[in-house]
Amino acid sequence: MKNLQETKVVIVGGGFGGVRTALNLAKINLPGAKIILVSNKPHFEYHAALYRVVTGKSPLEVCIPLNEIFENKNVEVVEDKIVKVDLTRKVLFGESGSKYKFNFLVAALGSETAYFDIPGLKEYSFGFKSITEALRLKNHLHEVFASCEKAPKEEKVCLVHVVVVGAGSSGTELAGELALYTKEMAKNHNIDPSLVTVDLIEVAPRILPSLPEKVSKKVDKHLRSLGVNIFVNRAILKEEIKQVYLHDIEMKVKTVIWTAGVKPNNLYREVKGLEFDSKGRVLVDEYLQAKGQQGVFVIGDAASTLYSGTAQTAISDGKIVGENIYRLIKGKHLVKNTPKKPVTAIPVGTGWAAVVIGLVELYGSLGWSLRRLADFRFFLTILPFKKALLAFQDGKTICETCSICLPETEVKAVI
Ligand SMILES: Cc1cc2nc3c(=O)[nH]c(=O)nc-3n(C[C@H](O)[C@H](O)[C@H](O)COP(=O)(O)OP(=O)(O)OC[C@H]3O[C@@H](n4cnc5c(N)ncnc54)[C@H](O)[C@@H]3O)c2cc1C
Repeated sequence: MKNLQETKVVIVGGGFGGVRTALNLAKINLPGAKIILVSNKPHFEYHAALYRVVTGKSPLEVCIPLNEIFENKNVEVVEDKIVKVDLTRKVLFGESGSKYKFNFLVAALGSETAYFDIPGLKEYSFGFKSITEALRLKNHLHEVFASCEKAPKEEKVCLVHVVVVGAGSSGTELAGELALYTKEMAKNHNIDPSLVTVDLIEVAPRILPSLPEKVSKKVDKHLRSLGVNIFVNRAILKEEIKQVYLHDIEMKVKTVIWTAGVKPNNLYREVKGLEFDSKGRVLVDEYLQAKGQQGVFVIGDAASTLYSGTAQTAISDGKIVGENIYRLIKGKHLVKNTPKKPVTAIPVGTGWAAVVIGLVELYGSLGWSLRRLADFRFFLTILPFKKALLAFQDGKTICETCSICLPETEVKAVI
């Protein structure tokens, strides 16, 4: 057994995988071992509820301070951006100038948006991967709706036209929620709601292409009932400031939301000693160690595993890695990663969700209740009961920056 006094476990990334690893390591009694969580943000972001932030709910539900998660836990939380990793010397370099030496490293840096070099997309589209992007999008929507009131009719149609590109889970849930939200915004801003258009564009022959066809059909029908126009077999070729080009259509539109491309965090590419699959994900062994790198674990979105790309997989990876670091320290055999198929739960507009658990499919309000229950259950895994309840309840709080769209009760309170 190693001398625990000297054992430094550094976890990089305070998202789903990193937080789970740190919590599990803190739970296992490793006296003397130092657990350090380095993340470039002081908070954890709950991506699964980001669509609600875009459509006027409080960002507090999706923004949980790391210090609250690790209060009274044997984990040192450091806010820093890691800019260089030296696996040979076992040291990480932070943007702040700090160096972090490690005996064991867990890299949980997640993914970033990929634009596939489509002209104009990076400059003119809106992202949907973080709280900052969600709030930027919400503020933009309110700005264009406000400017629409005085615009000539032909210009109005362009201003209240919203295009969501990518009909995977996140694009689908956002399109459904926006269909309802933009109609409400139109009413508040004295715009005829029939002028508002929400389009969902997908390159595959159907929406939710990774799910069974029956699920895709049901969600498609429900989205259309909410007023979303669905275009399949269409790729974005080019975007300009007020125009987007598909191979057979040109759309005049002020708001294009790009949800169709993700790639592993760029930092991994710069780390000497890592190997990658064709999607740029880091090759890992059956214990989630980077190929050929004992004691260096890569988890979550950037790991080349069967179901990477979901929070559920990142959490499961974090549990296994926590256990394996303990086992390495104790000189025991490591446990293998046995990937589990994630549950799918896609909310589509308020009160309706499609849930797929193995062979069981549920739709409608029951699906919605299950999905909200899953949100609450997740908060319980990282926070004590009272704080978990507060975070969950924040998801119901209206939070509008646009004074015209504030509910009447809140306007009175402000006055
Ligand atoms: C809109 C949206 C909705 C989603 N909905 C669901 C869902 O319903 N169910 C589901 O299972 N999955 C969902 N996902 C996917 C899920 O969020 C990801 O699979 C999950 O976040 C991956 O976890 P991770 O730990 O790999 O990365 P993340 O959770 O993204 O964490 C990465 C962490 O690393 C930090 N970081 C990045 N670079 C650095 C650096 N250089 N130095 C230090 N820290 C750094 C980041 O700030 C972040 O804290 C959704 C994703 C999005 C975008």
